[in-house]
Amino acid sequence: MSLKRQMVAAGFALFRRAGLHRLAGDGLRGRGVILTFHRVRPADDKEFAPNALLEITPGFLDAALTRLRASGLDIVTLDEALRRLVSGEGARFAVLTFDDGFRDLAEHALPVLERHRAPFMAYIAPGLASRTARLWWVELEEAVRRLDSIELGRQIFLTRDAREKSAAFEKIYWFLRAQGEQALLDGVAVLRDRAGVDPADLVDRLCLDWDGLRRLATSELAGFGAHSMTHPRLRQIAEDQARAEMACSREVLERELGRSCPHFAYPVGDPSSAGPSEFALAEKLGFASAVTTRPGMIFPEHAAHLHALPRVSVNGLWQDIDSLDILLSGAPFLLWNRGRRVNAA
Ligand SMILES: [Zn+2]
Repeated sequence: MSLKRQMVAAGFALFRRAGLHRLAGDGLRGRGVILTFHRVRPADDKEFAPNALLEITPGFLDAALTRLRASGLDIVTLDEALRRLVSGEGARFAVLTFDDGFRDLAEHALPVLERHRAPFMAYIAPGLASRTARLWWVELEEAVRRLDSIELGRQIFLTRDAREKSAAFEKIYWFLRAQGEQALLDGVAVLRDRAGVDPADLVDRLCLDWDGLRRLATSELAGFGAHSMTHPRLRQIAEDQARAEMACSREVLERELGRSCPHFAYPVGDPSSAGPSEFALAEKLGFASAVTTRPGMIFPEHAAHLHALPRVSVNGLWQDIDSLDILLSGAPFLLWNRGRRVNAA
C-alpha cells in the first residue's frame, strides 16, 4: 500500500473510531457538495488495478444515492445548485458529476441514476469522443500490466507480479506527472509503444463516441459540460493553447449535442493542473462555472468563486457508507484545507 493510501486509511480509521464527523455541523458541511465519479462498473478483482480509485460498482452508486437523500441532501442539477448557492435559498444539495464520458456511464450508471430520478452532469472532452485524445493514465496502466520490466531514464523497474507492478506504476506515474504536458505524453507513449498498446483502441473501448453521447443526451436527467479538447493539464501548457482547449471544447460539444453546455471541468483538476490564471480564463471565456478536483464542500463563500469550485471524489478504494458519511460531514476537508473554506489560490 502506498504511503498516501496508508495515511488516508489512518485518517478514515481515526474519524470512525472517534466519531468526530458526527459532531460536524453545517459550519463544516456547508451548502452542499459536488461529487466526482469516473467509472462505474462491476468489480473485476484484478490484483493490479492502479486506477481503481477512479471506479465504483453500480451497487455502491445505488447505496450512495440512497444515503445522500437520507442525509437530507437534494440531488439537483448543477444549475439548480448554483442558483441555491447564489440566492442562499433552498435545502442543502448534492450534484453528481461524471468525468470523461466513459461507456459505463451509459451502461452501468444510467440505470441506477434513472431508478433514483437523479440528474447528473457529464464533463466531456470532444477529443476522447472523436478518438483523437489519449487516456494516458490508462495507457500507462496497460503498459505496466503487459511488461515484465520497465526502463525509465537510468532506472529499471521490475514489473513481474502485481506487487511490483503497483509499486512501479506509483513511481513512474508521479515521475511523469512532475514533467510538462508534452514530456508526460511522450514518456507514456514510449512505454505504451514498447508494450504494444494501441491508444486509439483503448479510447474506443472505454469512452462513448458521439452517437453514444447523443443517445445519453436523450435522458432528461443528463447535463453536459466541457472538459477541454484533449484533456491536458491546462496549467502545464501555453495560455493561448489553454484558451483554445477550453473554448473549442464548449463549441464542439454544443454543436455535436445541439444544446447549451455552459459549465467546465478542469482536466486532472488539482493545483498543478488548474490555478488562479485558469480560473480567470474560464470566467473570461464566459463559462457559468468551472469545477476542480480540489477537495471540499461548497460554502456560501463559493458564490464569489464559481470558477474554482471544489469537488469530493467518491473514491473506489473506500466504497462503504461509513466512509461516505465521513466525507459528507466535511470534516476531513477542513483539515486538508487547513481550516480554509475556500481554497482558490
Ligand atoms: Zn477528466
